[in-house]
Amino acid sequence: MSTNKPRVLIIEDEKPIRTFLRASLEGEGHDVVEAEAGREGVAQAAMWVPDLVILDLGLPDIDGLQVIRELRGWSHVPIVILSAREREGDKVAALDAGADDYLTKPFGIRELLARVRVALRHAAQTGKERSTQYRVGEIQMDLDARRVFLAGKELHLTPIEYKLLATLIHHAGKVLTHRFLLKEVWGPGRIDDVHYLRVFMAGLRRKIEADPSHPRYLLTEQGVGYRLADE
Ligand code: CA
Repeated sequence: MSTNKPRVLIIEDEKPIRTFLRASLEGEGHDVVEAEAGREGVAQAAMWVPDLVILDLGLPDIDGLQVIRELRGWSHVPIVILSAREREGDKVAALDAGADDYLTKPFGIRELLARVRVALRHAAQTGKERSTQYRVGEIQMDLDARRVFLAGKELHLTPIEYKLLATLIHHAGKVLTHRFLLKEVWGPGRIDDVHYLRVFMAGLRRKIEADPSHPRYLLTEQGVGYRLADE
């Protein structure tokens, strides 16, 4: 029973979705365990210690947000939300509670599997020593030397642009909320100043993107935050 397959726990009350997710994840070589309610999911997470959790927010016993908070009390396991709730406030609440990513139903299975890969890779990286060298597509960042390169050419960033890009690249592939980015880059006193973020993101896009109005790397998550595209 001991394998090196990534272990995925699905917490979802709709059986057809669980069955579909199980088939898709097992097809990718994952081990899968299912839970049909929140408390059962938290208990499975404690007993089985999954590498990743896929979590529905609308559960019959406790709310998915409560599940995130309970898991985050003792676990850093990546949590990918799968939810019918489309409101931006729900996404932000789930991400701020400690979820790693968010997909709205109906979802594309290829998109979900890609997000699962990114979350697993990110968890594997942060488990090791914190890296100081990053490469995402043509962007290369050396945090020791404080230098950034695009397709081999050095970029000159302002201190804020540099800090913003360093935060995004450290969490590449993950949706980061406005609040999280503002706190990381400007500090806890600025968490409501979303316009700061827009201004500096626009500046960063002008320096990095071939076409800043159709970004390849610095993606907007509408009403939620930003993501540095990782694949
Ligand atoms: Ca549900």
